[in-house]
Amino acid sequence: TTIRAVTDCLFCKIVTKEIPATIVHETDRTVAFRDLNPQAPTHVLVIPKGHYENAAALAAADDGLADEVLKAAHAVAVQEGVADEGYRLVFNTGPQAGQTVFHVHGHVLGGRAMHWPPG
Ligand code: 5GP
Ligand code: ZN
Repeated sequence: TTIRAVTDCLFCKIVTKEIPATIVHETDRTVAFRDLNPQAPTHVLVIPKGHYENAAALAAADDGLADEVLKAAHAVAVQEGVADEGYRLVFNTGPQAGQTVFHVHGHVLGGRAMHWPPG
């Protein structure tokens, strides 16, 4: 699988380590790192190493990559010790949903009570 990097993408630069991040989990095609501005005791971002703009583009990749990202997210939750008590996995998709970085990322949030609806 070819991994396409986008020059002006913040998260592509985290993949290539041009920008430092605290990486907590890595597979051949995914990487997970702590959010710079954590909203919960556990707040980790899980991304495919290749550049896909959002969850829709990742879903359309059609090569098992979305499955790998989902499995990585769960592995992070287990590793962080929040899998049993429960955690939230969020993919903000598009500006109206609050997406600000356009390299798909799943937020793994845990370690505190979560509320619904999120607002
Ligand atoms: P979004 O709003 O796009 O769903 O989430 C983007 C997330 O990326 C935010 O939670 C923000 O704190 C995080 N973030 C933005 N820039 C950086 C960065 O340079 N490093 C890390 N680790 N997280 C970042
Ligand atoms: Zn990117």
